[in-house]
Amino acid sequence: MPERFRVYCLDKSFKGLEGEMIQTFQVKTTKQTEFINITHSVEEAIQKTGMKEGICIIFTPHTTAAITINENVDPSVPKDIIMELSKIVPFEDRYQHTEGNSPAHIKASIIGCSQTVFVETGKLVLGTWQGIFFCEFDGPRSRKIYVKVIPDGG
Ligand code: ZN
Repeated sequence: MPERFRVYCLDKSFKGLEGEMIQTFQVKTTKQTEFINITHSVEEAIQKTGMKEGICIIFTPHTTAAITINENVDPSVPKDIIMELSKIVPFEDRYQHTEGNSPAHIKASIIGCSQTVFVETGKLVLGTWQGIFFCEFDGPRSRKIYVKVIPDGG
């Protein structure tokens, strides 16, 4: 997926240390609303921790972004999700939040700011068609993603 190549570490301070149980990385979004496939970056983050068996939590510390798991093969799936979310939460309404980004806050709450995935032999346990997506609802911005691993029996 070409989206994978848009995930960078912009600042060395965000690059998790080898062996640390929390890894962080950033994504630079380029549109107001977009889903970016971060599966490969999450797997790299897990490999840096050295954990082979356990669970990982993928969390984004933002109020207008989210993390979801869905189909990573047909790019029209994320596009359809974005289209329908925008029908549920229109860009214009009688929102009271003066910052002007209420739809982004609402969509972020609907999708949620984290996902939990099993890890076996150092790899994410995902279905054949599944990928992990960072969901931007108020871009373009630089965004942080945290990956926390919890080893079995730890
Ligand atoms: Zn706001």
